[in-house]
Amino acid sequence: MKRLPVLLAFSLAAAGCGAQPQLLGTEGKYLLTARDVLALPGEEVSLVARLQGGDFLQDQPGYVMRFERLEDRSAVRAAQTDEEGKAVVTWTPDVPGDTEFEVGPAPAGFEDAPPEPQTLLVACRAADEPIAVVDLDKTLVASGFQAVLLGDPKPMPHSTRMVEQLSREHTIVYLTHRPEYFGPKSKAWLRRQGYPRGPVLLSTATGFLKGSGAYKTQALAELGERFTHLRVGIGDKPSDAMAYHDNGMTSILVFHMPAGEDPEPLAKLAEEIGNLAETVHVVTDWQEVGKVLFEGASFPPERIRKRLADKVVELEARAAAGDGEEPGEQP
Ligand SMILES: [Mg+2]
Repeated sequence: MKRLPVLLAFSLAAAGCGAQPQLLGTEGKYLLTARDVLALPGEEVSLVARLQGGDFLQDQPGYVMRFERLEDRSAVRAAQTDEEGKAVVTWTPDVPGDTEFEVGPAPAGFEDAPPEPQTLLVACRAADEPIAVVDLDKTLVASGFQAVLLGDPKPMPHSTRMVEQLSREHTIVYLTHRPEYFGPKSKAWLRRQGYPRGPVLLSTATGFLKGSGAYKTQALAELGERFTHLRVGIGDKPSDAMAYHDNGMTSILVFHMPAGEDPEPLAKLAEEIGNLAETVHVVTDWQEVGKVLFEGASFPPERIRKRLADKVVELEARAAAGDGEEPGEQP
């Protein structure tokens, strides 16, 4: 069995293995994921699906997967899953445009009900297509990853409308550090909330273990080798903002004031935000994102750095005055 990302392993352990379908947004015993691709015209790309199943998602070799173009049910290709549960076929888009494939199992050989087919997007774009990269958790999704696992998370107010507007002049690429296991759940959520179609790029197990900043920096560098106009990046972490900025993009950080009364993490965050380049925009909501994107407004990091620094002073003063109980301690 391949190593599971720690967070998922903990979540499964905490929730009990029976919770796996709820956590991953799957029906039944199997998990089928299919990887979206951003392709250049005439470029041969790999279409990858992966079948895992059982508690702790063991790789499922030896099953045949069919790849079929949704629009006209053509381009049927098939491949058998390998030792990692992966089935891979190649396909070459000729001209820019979106092509959706349905990936589904040939029904033979399953002990339990076979997994539902999944959709895979090949977004074919010219090398100079303007691209906007958008993060999911705490950027489009109002809550963090833990709430995503068990709840039905809400989108951040105004984000749907702003991303739709951004998509008129840009291809939207959803780049998230969520592991690939969450592909079906993530794509279904984006669709349900009405966000514009775009490839959803999730981290592989290796990418997940690298940490969010390193994973995104590498993913952007790889995109930047093939696409010359990475224009806009929107995320919630200072490491997101740095990765976007380092790739020459308009970099927007959607800031959330951390909860809690401990001044230390706030002081650290103030320092990280203070270290960002002047041209990074640090905003508090999607209306401000809209002002940056469509009205030429600027939100340099200093405003939020100062807000954090003031909060640190306030918390430290409160603690010194003696009315700051230890977090979680009851009188
Ligand atoms: Mg995020």
